Amino acid sequence: MAHLLHHYLSETAARTPRHPALVAGEVSVGFAELDRLSDAVARALQSAGVVRGDRVAVMLENSIEYVAALFGALKAGAVYVPVNPSTKADKLAYILTDADVRALVAPAALARQVVPALGEAPHLAATLWVGPAGADGPRSLCWADVTAGPHRAPADPGLIDQDLAAILYTSGTTGRPKGVMLSHASLVSTTWSISTYLANTPDDVVFCLLPLTFGYGLSQVLTGARVGFTVVLERSFAFPADTLARMVRHRITGLPGVPTVFSTLLGLDAFKGADLSSLRYLTNAAAPLPTSHIQRLRERFPDAAFHSMYGMTECCTRICTLDPRDLDAKAASVGRAIPNCEAYVVDEQGHRAAPGVIGELVVRGANVMRGYWNRPDETAKRLRTGPLGETLLHTGDLFTCDADGFLYFVSRKDDVFKCRGEKVSPKEVENALYELEAVAEAVVVGVPDPADGMAVKAYVVPRDGATLSEAQIRQHCRGRLESHLVPKFVELRDALPKTDSGKIKRAVLAETA
Ligand code: ATP
Ligand code: MG
Repeated sequence: MAHLLHHYLSETAARTPRHPALVAGEVSVGFAELDRLSDAVARALQSAGVVRGDRVAVMLENSIEYVAALFGALKAGAVYVPVNPSTKADKLAYILTDADVRALVAPAALARQVVPALGEAPHLAATLWVGPAGADGPRSLCWADVTAGPHRAPADPGLIDQDLAAILYTSGTTGRPKGVMLSHASLVSTTWSISTYLANTPDDVVFCLLPLTFGYGLSQVLTGARVGFTVVLERSFAFPADTLARMVRHRITGLPGVPTVFSTLLGLDAFKGADLSSLRYLTNAAAPLPTSHIQRLRERFPDAAFHSMYGMTECCTRICTLDPRDLDAKAASVGRAIPNCEAYVVDEQGHRAAPGVIGELVVRGANVMRGYWNRPDETAKRLRTGPLGETLLHTGDLFTCDADGFLYFVSRKDDVFKCRGEKVSPKEVENALYELEAVAEAVVVGVPDPADGMAVKAYVVPRDGATLSEAQIRQHCRGRLESHLVPKFVELRDALPKTDSGKIKRAVLAETA
């Protein structure tokens, strides 16, 4: 029989009941206990009227309750919808209505921000409050009551693996986040691909400081439940030195991150000497990590594997990965398609592009979404039928492929602009900026310019304590880049606007430039 996501949790619980599944702060929970907690949540949701296909929203910080609620929703037959806990009442009301949510799991501490939105959800059957005492509001349940008492398994909702498991919202880097519909089969396939290329085992201890509301974070706990490894959940990265100390204390073996995480760590004095000898692999995704940073991480961790990955929410967050053995020869590449997935570059006519030619990356495989929730027009733009009648996802990202089949991210289609008639791909300029040790973060956008059409503008955040001037930056770029790529404008900033998943909001900067 085909597997559903939560079957893996139950199987792992039967195999290694006491092995730690999750660690959060000072608390840890074994696989059997996580399985039991999620059964209890599933039963409560079913008793409140949740049935197969209903949406259950989870609005929590990274925590054991989060993961129990997620698996509880799946076991009840529902579609899991993550909601960032910082979401304000009006946006929450929008999500509850848009996704037509039947049940919400939320922190009691946020009741004041959540309760006003509940009236907007036309079919809300229950709110499950996480906190010692729960909270008031219509059809309220309290976590402590729901999870107490003797264990009883939930009713079988009769799912098949083509049923939806999740509606994940994209990061919203380019506009309003879109709800991506993913089936059990898609997520099951991706957890298999991921654990295959990372060679995960139950001995792994993976450090998850990525929010679980972000697909890349979610994939850590889904893969952990399948393989049976431990995930250490971190709530925020606001105090990097404390976070680093926990990495050391838990003897982590896997560190999934995004560029801001790695650049912050590389800038920490304590990172240089910290005992992270347990580390077996690091992964980067979500945005390009400058090759100079990859090099510094490799020098810092000569015995750990570094995986450059590329993906998007629309593909269960994974499309390509670079085998660490290819790093020396192909440092700037994101590798090739992950197992059970095909990805290639097409030209404007939709034909496979020759090596070296820039075109859009298209994807085919089990990891591809079913479409965007409630957005048929957007879905039709992205999911198109290929020459053999197959469904191809058009990523909206420009790539090249080399003669050996390795893929290189060039830019988002919408981020490329023309300066003095020549194309500018921001990443090329950003890579040059990151070569400067004093640069903590850099982003490049095009700004309208009477002389050049569009001019190159760089926003740069200097490293703490470093001195950096506009003139220095421009001089460095002049020595590295063709003249049309050298930033005409440079703005030094203390910080850059970011999405919840830690990506720089390039479009916001371009609009306000
Ligand atoms: P939205 O679609 O709402 O504008 P988003 O595209 O940032 O937001 P995600 O699905 O989280 O939302 O991100 C996927 C995108 O992130 C990819 O389409 C690609 O542009 C970018 N990306 C992911 N990994 C990499 C990488 N390794 N290098 C460069 N870009 C990457
Ligand atoms: Mg996108």
